[in-house]
Amino acid sequence: MRLVLGLCKVAAFTFLIFTTSAALAQNVILIIGDGMDDHQITMARNYLHGAKGLLTLDTLPVRAAVQVVTLDHNDPSKVVYVADSANSATAIATGQVTSRGRISTSADTDSDLKPITVDLKNAGFAVGIVTTASVTDATPAVFMANVAQRFCENPDMMVQAKIGGNWYADCEDDLIANGGSGSISEQIAGSTIDVVLGGGSKQFAPMAEGADLTVLEQAQAEGYVVVNSVQALEQTVSSSDERVLGLFSPSTMPVRWQATGGVAAEQPEPSLLNQVHEYLGDVTLPAPVKCEVNPTYGDTPPLATMAQAAIAQLAKRSNKGFFLMVESASIDKQSHARRPCGQIGELQQLDETLQVALEFATTNPETLILVTADHGQAAQIIPNNSLFNGYGVPVYTPGRLQRLVTPEGAILAMNYATNEFQAEEHTGVNIPLLANEQGQGLVPSFLLQSDIYGIIKNYLLPETP
Ligand SMILES: [Zn+2]
Repeated sequence: MRLVLGLCKVAAFTFLIFTTSAALAQNVILIIGDGMDDHQITMARNYLHGAKGLLTLDTLPVRAAVQVVTLDHNDPSKVVYVADSANSATAIATGQVTSRGRISTSADTDSDLKPITVDLKNAGFAVGIVTTASVTDATPAVFMANVAQRFCENPDMMVQAKIGGNWYADCEDDLIANGGSGSISEQIAGSTIDVVLGGGSKQFAPMAEGADLTVLEQAQAEGYVVVNSVQALEQTVSSSDERVLGLFSPSTMPVRWQATGGVAAEQPEPSLLNQVHEYLGDVTLPAPVKCEVNPTYGDTPPLATMAQAAIAQLAKRSNKGFFLMVESASIDKQSHARRPCGQIGELQQLDETLQVALEFATTNPETLILVTADHGQAAQIIPNNSLFNGYGVPVYTPGRLQRLVTPEGAILAMNYATNEFQAEEHTGVNIPLLANEQGQGLVPSFLLQSDIYGIIKNYLLPETP
């Protein structure tokens, strides 16, 4: 075995990356942008690099379209055309199509579906999960747990747990007392996953079911080194090869950017005359804004820093190679909240993470890098000046609008109009799958989302049925 000593520097600190001989180790780095359809990618490209610029994403040689398939929870013989993160990430993790809300469980009988991480661990690969959401959130959870319902994130959320309004999570069958595997955080604490990094410390604070330890204490008893600062992460990765559970915020990690003054997209205001007749009067659009640093971001570890720490630790823990899933979660969450700057900053974090992955692949060429999304999101780019304004008609969007002044001096008008409620919803567009050179010949130009599972499995476990 040949040891290669690489020195990689990202953001605030430096890691030594020991990599095994390329002939022995094979790795997959799966980067998921939650809600990252082409509309969200285009708004980030326009703002970050200009309309003629390129994201690192755009330099990847393989680009395919992925159809997302979701089963109807009430009648799994039928489909619905819009997914959530739970069912769509389950398709990637298990190769099985299911219904919304399921965490690696089937739509019809709530049976456990085996995530690819189980076979990979059994075959001797190291496995890491990194996210800017809570590590118990749907996308990371499907790789580490099986539970009936995505909101069963901790032991206190298992039975008749109120989510909001009149909606309750119920995972009674998953209680340990009922022969289940417990909540998502309990399953992570008892898992064999090597590195788990993200937000969600509050999900580990409750007492574990039937135990006199909190879930966090249980994770430590199971051998996890728990860290909650970037400094502690750096120190652990540079001094030990233990399993690491890093929890850097109570729930979703703060995003990097916000719009000027923290404003979200707003509804245009038609004049009284326009309300009398759509051809009359005028309309006041929300004032243009810029993106600025989110004051609550503070010393939040960047996604690329967490990914690099995970890569360093995983490379130490298996000579065979590793599987790392990295999720940029708030492309989705900030779109729900109608906040384009939050989305763009989070997509920038994903692009920086891809740079880290590509840099690792230069010294570890048998590394398949896949970049994809789980489902589409609400934000869409619309004309800043409607074509119809040229006819003297005061046309305006029925949705919420935010107009960003881009660094290249144009106005990027972002519209959110899936509903009139307090949060936007996902959309049913197909999503992209991109890959580095290792994906050439493995990724067809059009595929089903559940086929991504097979691509990962064929690359790392070609002999396994
Ligand atoms: Zn969402």
